[in-house]
Amino acid sequence: MDKERILTIVVPCYNEEEVLPETTKELGEILTSLINDGTVDRESKILFVDDGSRDKTWELITKFGHEKSYVTGIKFSRNYGHQNALLAGMEIAVKYSDMIITIDADLQDDVNAISKMVAEYYKGKDVVYGVRNSRETDTVFKRRTALAFYGLMKKLGVDMVPDSADYRLLSKRAVENLLRFTEQNLFLRGMVPLIGFSHSKVYYARKERFAGESKYPLKKMIKFALDGITSFSVVPIKMIMGLGMVIVLVGVAMFIYTIVQKIMGNVISGWTSLMTSIWVLGGVQLICISVIGEYIGKIFTEVKHRPRYTIETETYSDKFNKSKINS
Ligand code: UDP
Ligand code: MG
Repeated sequence: MDKERILTIVVPCYNEEEVLPETTKELGEILTSLINDGTVDRESKILFVDDGSRDKTWELITKFGHEKSYVTGIKFSRNYGHQNALLAGMEIAVKYSDMIITIDADLQDDVNAISKMVAEYYKGKDVVYGVRNSRETDTVFKRRTALAFYGLMKKLGVDMVPDSADYRLLSKRAVENLLRFTEQNLFLRGMVPLIGFSHSKVYYARKERFAGESKYPLKKMIKFALDGITSFSVVPIKMIMGLGMVIVLVGVAMFIYTIVQKIMGNVISGWTSLMTSIWVLGGVQLICISVIGEYIGKIFTEVKHRPRYTIETETYSDKFNKSKINS
């Protein structure tokens, strides 16, 4: 280890007043011990990203920021979502940091894995994934759906690290390269493997949420999964083509069948098959159109190049500039 490096821990928060005091305490303890044993630089910080919370989250972040020099924050002007909050945190932090760890605010991810991640960084890794080795604390439903989702993504050809969420360490150059992805529909756990570099994994047990309830209701979870699929894979469009071909074959068979029936003089029937084909085909067409629509929707949001977030207040850079002036 030649020289200590600056670490920033980025924590997205949306209505997290219930967990924030404990999160600040636990992350603070880890960070100070890393600073004190000389593993990371004294300028290392925790950066909370308040994703437009409606509760006391920002008041708490400011309060802790006054008490502890290492606590900093970004406040979004409204709720932009977890992925945008992570990205904003990394974009601000990368200016001063050599490595960035992202972790959820609810302490579900074991904070003790942080020092293991940092150790991997010093071994020369640019990307260190936090991988949960058990999902016992998740509900059966969440476990099943997550398993099905990772399986599906693999089938669709998306390279993802199974059971890794957004708890990971990225080196400065990894973040800089991640920021070159300009897409609006963010799906970071699919994007990170695309940047390459040497990587490793750190295993941990996922716990229950410390307090409060999940900020990812089923609706948000489904949207997130769909985003992941349609942002990373065109397999659904290709599947439509296969489906279309099968339907054409069925159509040809039906045609031959009706001709044969006509020749044999059995022409009274027809209503059933007609109704069936109208409804089946109508349904198939609707499904196909909706899949294409999903992609057109993506193109629509991408070409607008809207900003991915808006920052209202930010204390991170201030603390660095201040300490530069003091020293
Ligand atoms: N979060 C966020 N914006 C949102 C929803 C969630 O910043 O719109 C944060 C939330 O505060 C937490 C993290 O994203 O730190 C993960 O959310 P949560 O723990 O509720 O999801 P779960 O673990 O239930 O999937
Ligand atoms: Mg959680």
